[in-house]
Amino acid sequence: MKCPFCHHSELKVTDSRESTEMNAIRRRRECLGCFRRFTTFETIELTVQVLKRDGTYQDFQQQKIISGLDAACRHTTISHDQVIALASQITQELLQMQITEISTKEIGEMIMKHLQALDPIAYIRFACVYRRFKEISELMNAIKGISSEELESLEVSKKHQEDTNGTEKIRNS
Ligand SMILES: [Zn+2]
Repeated sequence: MKCPFCHHSELKVTDSRESTEMNAIRRRRECLGCFRRFTTFETIELTVQVLKRDGTYQDFQQQKIISGLDAACRHTTISHDQVIALASQITQELLQMQITEISTKEIGEMIMKHLQALDPIAYIRFACVYRRFKEISELMNAIKGISSEELESLEVSKKHQEDTNGTEKIRNS
């Protein structure tokens, strides 16, 4: 790395901290040639291989979590910003686990753990896709796993959905 001002190659790191939202490390550097200071962001490379249901592996992609969550959270209380924050949190957890391999099923369970606390509707929708319920009883068991407190907020979000139905129709037409 070279100084962006004088291209001198001797730099001193004066401060390092993790920026969790960006999965990056922020470093404050000082050039030993011109003594100017600047900040760099180094993205942490996540080298996790994801084992898919068909037995093949794929590089971990945060975008896949975002797409899956966006689909499950449509028409719920969870915003796209919350989806991005959650996906970033999952990525962070994977980094901290210091693993090299994880299955889509395990990632799905991690996501569901977070969704269950955020919005029961989104949780059920996501669970339907990830667990691929074959029997209605499996779905019922997942619903039973939601606490009564969370079911109360389920009622609230259902009401919220009814309230916003009018505006949805206008937007769709
Ligand atoms: Zn310099």
